[in-house]
Amino acid sequence: MPTFYKCQRCTACCRWPGQVKLTDEEVSQMSSHLELSEHEFIQEYTRVRADRRGLSLKDKPNGECILLEESKCRVQPVKPQQCRDFPNLWNFPGFQKDCDAIAIPVDGEEYRKRVKEATGRHPPESFGG
Ligand code: SF4
Ligand code: SF4
Repeated sequence: MPTFYKCQRCTACCRWPGQVKLTDEEVSQMSSHLELSEHEFIQEYTRVRADRRGLSLKDKPNGECILLEESKCRVQPVKPQQCRDFPNLWNFPGFQKDCDAIAIPVDGEEYRKRVKEATGRHPPESFGG
């Protein structure tokens, strides 16, 4: 039976090291949400990725995502797809040690419905086993 992970908004995934990759469309949506021009948003909140193939969000000096403010995401309604997809469409071995998401066994149809609601995307057929 597939397992859906229900996020508890503990924000641990906004605090651990890693790159949050951004698409051009996401830059545009987040700029609008913060009432900034794209240029201002890029200057203030992004950096060039390690592979130099695009932009990612900056970290604060303590390693948290720059858009985390008092345990809330400043761009929650338009947060990057990478953030939406964790932990249902990507995760890593042992992620449950740090992530408070509740594992809920559901049937296949319910799994696809819940993942679509959480991520805005349909899970690939190979997911959810
Ligand atoms: S953009 Fe929002 S959800 Fe994504 S890591 Fe930053 S604070 Fe967390
Ligand atoms: S996905 Fe997990 S680590 Fe991230 S906020 Fe939700 S419960 Fe916390």
